[in-house]
Amino acid sequence: MTKYTPKERLYRALRKQPVDRMPAVCFTQTGTVEQMEACGAYWPEAHEDAEKMATLAEAAHTVVGFEAVRVPFDITAEAELFGCGIKAGDLKQQPSVIKPVVKNLEDLDKLRDYKLKEGRIAVILEAVKILSEKYGKELPIIGSMIGPFSLAQHINGDAWFGNLFTGEELVPALLDFCSDFNVAYAKAMVENGADTIAIIDPTASYELIGGEYYEKYALPYQKKIADAMKELDVATVLHVCGKTTDGLSIMDKTGVNSISVDQRVDIKTATGNVKDAIIVGNLDPVAVLWNGTLEEVEEASKKVLDAGVGLLTVGCGIVSMTPTANLQKMIECAKNHKY
Ligand SMILES: [Zn+2]
Repeated sequence: MTKYTPKERLYRALRKQPVDRMPAVCFTQTGTVEQMEACGAYWPEAHEDAEKMATLAEAAHTVVGFEAVRVPFDITAEAELFGCGIKAGDLKQQPSVIKPVVKNLEDLDKLRDYKLKEGRIAVILEAVKILSEKYGKELPIIGSMIGPFSLAQHINGDAWFGNLFTGEELVPALLDFCSDFNVAYAKAMVENGADTIAIIDPTASYELIGGEYYEKYALPYQKKIADAMKELDVATVLHVCGKTTDGLSIMDKTGVNSISVDQRVDIKTATGNVKDAIIVGNLDPVAVLWNGTLEEVEEASKKVLDAGVGLLTVGCGIVSMTPTANLQKMIECAKNHKY
């Protein structure tokens, strides 16, 4: 069968076109301390400097062997753009959002004239460009961003889930705002060379909000991004945390090419719950990839492959202390798999 470049192979696999074998990629964050030591670009600097970000992203390919490059390594740059308080990360820990900025519609109105290409958003866009200029012909360039539901939660803070259930008018307004931002940001990533967009919407979880609220407050907004990307022939991958098994049929309606599932999801049931999206995942990033032996990685990979996963990869984000050898074992298992 035809030998594809990694870029062609992922393009085809995400569109259910025949391929020679499974691509070996990661749609969640890829940075690890071993890669930082190998390439000289470390957290937290690699979150803030485009060259360092690109260098560490590149290490996922050159040091580990993933057949794609992906930025960034965290999900706080978006909330930071809108003025949320951020707790800086360190060598092993990603930054996190600690202070929301929007309590009501008036607060939201103050955010509306943001400039897309400022702060760390500009850094990430620049890193996409650097990677695409270097690898864009051969490797998939994955641009990742937080999804609209989780971004709205960052911006609204602890009040978010309460507001959701009391039906505050702020909720749809904030989701409209966030998803419009997401679409503009995704388009800017594509302009800079991204060919695949990973939407990381960790708390838009069926496990937390159930089907009715997912349909109301997550589905239409995630769909907006998927629709905009489809027009540009750009594939989308949606990652949501938690036990999303029973919510997958609703998530499938977003029109994303692929749904990346948490390690707690049973792959066989999951694949039966979707009609269109490809299910990807879902090795346990802690028990298996960080703390497991090579044999355990191989065994877990085999189990997920036998269950019919679309692409074998990690469940939630890779832990920074994960040994390269374990990731390479997972990659080897993916590469050896023929559909
Ligand atoms: Zn997750």
